[in-house]
Amino acid sequence: MGILEVKNVGKRFGGLQALGDVNLSIAENSVHAIIGPNGAGKSTLLNCLVGKLIPDTGSVLFDGQSVLGRKPYEINQMGISRVFQTPEIFGDLTVMENMMIPCFAKRDGSFGLNAMTNMLNDRDIVNRAEHMLEEMNMVDKRHMHSASLSRGDKRRLEIGMCLSQEPRLLLLDEPTAGMARADTNNTIDLLKQIKDERDITIAIIEHDMHVVFSLAERITVLAQGTPLVEDTPDNIKGHPKVREAYLGE
Ligand code: ADP
Ligand code: MG
Repeated sequence: MGILEVKNVGKRFGGLQALGDVNLSIAENSVHAIIGPNGAGKSTLLNCLVGKLIPDTGSVLFDGQSVLGRKPYEINQMGISRVFQTPEIFGDLTVMENMMIPCFAKRDGSFGLNAMTNMLNDRDIVNRAEHMLEEMNMVDKRHMHSASLSRGDKRRLEIGMCLSQEPRLLLLDEPTAGMARADTNNTIDLLKQIKDERDITIAIIEHDMHVVFSLAERITVLAQGTPLVEDTPDNIKGHPKVREAYLGE
């Protein structure tokens, strides 16, 4: 059994069947990519895994436990962390301040009104945040205004913020979208490093085939809300159905 087991998940928006009947098993400690054309239902599927959407049918088990009906923060506490399609960092805060927030939330289980003032004087939180910035290779940017970071560095910070939660499953929705090639390659290297250094499973939705083939051990192709095929990268590359549905051949 995989660390994540998706069984017969369906989701409808009014008259639109965004997800038909999705079955997906993600093996622990693997990198699993989900690809497919625009509108295939990839983000909808991810939203169903993290509690942002509740599927109409089916089940989602994480480490044998159902995530359905749980709130996003509860699913996060179970060990699933997610990087959204558009970066979600606080642009007005420094890199260090951004990193301290999830460190605080992880240690204290919440982030209340006084947390911001408290955490700035909290040596333990400062240490945790510094440690994460070291792992992300961002210590030299700690005092920078986060809004002024490059797209690649915003993504790097955000991934670090997720990792400070010590997730067992990291979900990424098109992490390199809109990035220049150099930033994309840095992101690939960062994800490889994370994979090597941590006990972690990574599920990545990605458009850029260079990223997919650099990282993934398994690939699921989603088309019109249903998995078309799941296989190794080598087999996916030559698959006629994939070429037809995804590469438009
Ligand atoms: P992908 O991420 O693969 O591009 P999405 O999961 O975003 O696809 O969307 C799948 C389909 O569901 C699309 O046709 C999209 O327009 C539709 N959809 C997504 N979210 C909503 C929503 N909140 N309300 C209505 N339709 C939606
Ligand atoms: Mg999407």
